[in-house]
Amino acid sequence: MPTRPLKPRATDRTAADAGVEHAPARQAPLAMDAAAFRTHGHALVDQLADLLASVPGRPITPNDTPSAVRHALDLERGLPEEGTAPGPLLERAARQLFDHSLFNAHPRFFGYVTAPPAPIGILGDLLASALNPNVGAWMLSPAASEVEAQTIRWIAELIGFPTRCGGLFVSGGNMANIVCFLAARVAKASWNIREQGAGGPAGQRLVAYGSAETHTWVQKAADIAGLGTSAVRWIPTDGSLRMDIGALREQIDADVRAGGLPFMVVGTAGSVSTGAIDPLLEIAALCRERNLWFHVDGAYGGFAAAVPDAPADLLALSGADSVAVDPHKWLYAPLEAGCALVRDAEHLRAAFAYHPAYYHFEEAAVNYVDHGPQNSRGFRALKVWLALQHVGASGYRRMIGDDMGLSRALAAAVGRHGELQLETQSLSITTFRFVPLDLVGRLGDPAVAGYLNALNERLLDAVQRGGEAFVSNAVVGGRYLLRACIVNFHTSQADVDALPEIVARAGRTLDAAERPAALR
Ligand SMILES: *Cc1c(COP(=O)(O)O)cnc(C)c1O
Repeated sequence: MPTRPLKPRATDRTAADAGVEHAPARQAPLAMDAAAFRTHGHALVDQLADLLASVPGRPITPNDTPSAVRHALDLERGLPEEGTAPGPLLERAARQLFDHSLFNAHPRFFGYVTAPPAPIGILGDLLASALNPNVGAWMLSPAASEVEAQTIRWIAELIGFPTRCGGLFVSGGNMANIVCFLAARVAKASWNIREQGAGGPAGQRLVAYGSAETHTWVQKAADIAGLGTSAVRWIPTDGSLRMDIGALREQIDADVRAGGLPFMVVGTAGSVSTGAIDPLLEIAALCRERNLWFHVDGAYGGFAAAVPDAPADLLALSGADSVAVDPHKWLYAPLEAGCALVRDAEHLRAAFAYHPAYYHFEEAAVNYVDHGPQNSRGFRALKVWLALQHVGASGYRRMIGDDMGLSRALAAAVGRHGELQLETQSLSITTFRFVPLDLVGRLGDPAVAGYLNALNERLLDAVQRGGEAFVSNAVVGGRYLLRACIVNFHTSQADVDALPEIVARAGRTLDAAERPAALR
């Protein structure tokens, strides 16, 4: 270690040197002394402990109209000129927000891919706000930058990605995928695309590939990257909604013949609608053969690679050039936390940096401003870093494995129910629909097919409004389906057992009221 001369620093001066004791203390309106902070903080935590414990007994959603919400929270008044005492302000805000919100922490919340917040993550966000580091620059966030770097390595380790990778936290899966897309585009363009723009000097057009089940982020990415949405090829899927690798190969060949420049293939590790996993091992091999960037969208299913009986294709994550995962999904982090992982950190710098690599006292240090699109950045990694230590990798393997087991149990319960038809089960997503008993034999009749779609669409609405359970929907092969996704460590076997009859009961009522006479 080189020794440096000790010189007095400004912070070494005593308060008396600086004359501080003579200056009248400033009384800023927002300032709160330690005693007041303690009082209001304790009161809020006490109230939150009760409110969080009350969630299982509440309706999942209160079903307010927008105007009712505005009325209940007094959201139409103008900007207040004067302040309000913080104690009553916080108490009222917490109570009113809990009374008029949808709870993804409810044990029967099975919608979208939205997880309950881990309690340690809630507390972690409080700690992160209190510290308030700007994690864009190492100098401004020495501890937070290093914690983020370790959290990235831990996430990589959990899913079997090389831990020497680069990566960073972003707002969610969309941004994580978009960051990887932007890195791929810079890595694979044969010209300086950051300087010269998306159209190559010889008129080359970059082309990206994903299955027809790829999440809509890919359109936004192509658009934002300046390639245009027509640069995305939606490759057809097979009967299991996995990318048809033969069709991918043919499309790449056709694009090359037409003068296009194929640059990346997006493989989905758990599609958002049915949890389908693309043939990632085959896509990886094809990408190696054709020198294409292999990206995996693991926003939903990436963390399932951590469980011992994970589908074999998730092993291919380890060979990807980049992976997007979403800690606010299967790591149960409070929103927002997405994470982009890139095999070689230099690809992130190549895509985002305008400065040379940063060194602090002769050691390499990460300035995250040079690894992603954001400038000032919050400490999103902390809640994830704490949760990973709270339960360890084994705790996550158990929770993710249990969610998948409960989804299989739900599929079995749906299969046993005479009025429900099971469509798919993969990872922790089960899709199914309600079919009245007397129509089971008439599914080939187009009038029946049309009625079942309309009926199940109304049924989704009825179940969501009922407040007892919350599911979302999927459309597979033209059939409108209900979709239950379990990314929820509050869900138990009893909740799963209750769902089929909640759906069937609402289905019977609707069918009795709405069946057209021609189908009776
Ligand atoms: C959820 C999801 C996304 C988008 O992630 P956000 O966190 O909602 O931005 C992208 N891809 C897949 C497969 C997803 O499940």
